[in-house]
Amino acid sequence: MPYGYCGKILHVDLTAGKVEIEEPEETFYRKYMGGSALGAYYLLKHTPPGADPLGPENTLSLMAGVVTGAPFPGQSRVTATAKSPVTGLVGDSQSGGFWPAELKAAGFDGIVIHGRAERPVYLWVHDGEAELRDAVHLWGKFTADVEDGIREELNDRRIHVLQCGPAAEKGVSFGALISNANRANGRTGMGTVMASKNLRAVAVRGHSRPQLADPEAVKALAKWGADHLGESDVAGLGLLGTAEIVLSQSKQGGLPTRNWASGTFEGAEAISGQRMAETILKERDTCFGCIIRCKRVVEVTKDPFPVDPRYGGPEYETISTMGSYCGVSDLVAIARANQLCNMYGMDTISCGATVAWAMDCFERGLITLEDTDGIELRFGNSEALVQMVERIGKREGFGRVLGKGSARAAEALGVGQDLVVAVKNHELPAHMPQVKRSLALIYAVNPFGADHESSEHDPCYEWYPDRMAELDLLNPQPAKV
Ligand code: SF4
Repeated sequence: MPYGYCGKILHVDLTAGKVEIEEPEETFYRKYMGGSALGAYYLLKHTPPGADPLGPENTLSLMAGVVTGAPFPGQSRVTATAKSPVTGLVGDSQSGGFWPAELKAAGFDGIVIHGRAERPVYLWVHDGEAELRDAVHLWGKFTADVEDGIREELNDRRIHVLQCGPAAEKGVSFGALISNANRANGRTGMGTVMASKNLRAVAVRGHSRPQLADPEAVKALAKWGADHLGESDVAGLGLLGTAEIVLSQSKQGGLPTRNWASGTFEGAEAISGQRMAETILKERDTCFGCIIRCKRVVEVTKDPFPVDPRYGGPEYETISTMGSYCGVSDLVAIARANQLCNMYGMDTISCGATVAWAMDCFERGLITLEDTDGIELRFGNSEALVQMVERIGKREGFGRVLGKGSARAAEALGVGQDLVVAVKNHELPAHMPQVKRSLALIYAVNPFGADHESSEHDPCYEWYPDRMAELDLLNPQPAKV
């Protein structure tokens, strides 16, 4: 078995209620490696053409990265892959946290989920074994409550839980997978796929670590990283989180504002990483083995927008989609909307962008108070933003329409089609092709629709000509290799 791998893929047949362990050859791992490539392999192998994304024939894979579980920063990653209810094409979504490393500690490189259970279940994976357990009592509950419930039931506080939320159970198309109640595989509706299978959660716990070829070298590398963090390019990321870039994005004209009418937001200062650090930031959080600690934990104890630190804090994407996209410069309201998305299990990008689209329609008189349940859905109205996000999570009133995503909501209402900012029905993340020009092509041809995680979206590599020269990237590449 190659170093770094467990050598085992867990297959779960929810229809039959059975689990099976596959032990692929080394050549298989060398070819497909991990993450997205492994997920795509199983999707193409097991999901027939024309399959309904929310039908039992769709296959949901959860695949760890190649180096996930090794003790250095940035490695604990998991990719969820399935046919997407958002795009109708291959869906792919990534996240970090502790769940991915714990999956490997539990003895598996990935999990492939087939079929559909007759009634709600959760999957319990521990030290090379797996079983399906009843989850009827967990259905409909908020993510933190489900996580607490499973830990209590299995009597282990160190269990990590990846789950869909109540929004996905109700059929919101952009349902996310949530772990730690604050990390999300947000994009392409992977939570909605999990919910359609009557699978509420996958709980993992283990005591082994992947074998490393040269543990001393890894240790030395991790130490070098820790020693040089303060003077490195990522020091600011640790101090201010991904929201570090809000101000520079706005300054460059790359912070999508009022449903992409502009790239400069006059309220950028009020929603910046700096402002968060000075006001509502309670502490910094991290992922397995990472010293950078870019994750935010915020707390607000007062009405009208209390924020529970259990649900983390907003990232750059969330600050943009719930903030500048909607013309909202109230950081506390944005943090509340972020909490609602994590509680209900929704993608903050699609959710915020869809509300921004609806605000644009409202401002232009294309929809009225009659459509919006009496809510003044105007740009800058923070209360309306929070109310509408909760309605989407509950799938009630106008939230039922917006829970389809902006493109399908426009189709259903017969208005605002030309105001939708999406590719393959997938709302654009907060990186503008007008400023990061390569994104125009990337968004257009990416099989996942508008996605910034599967493709290079930052032009920062231009700052490092010496590193690019080493990789021979300063010269035009041959058309064919
Ligand atoms: S704490 Fe931030 S930098 Fe570190 S692994 Fe997690 S997401 Fe990446």
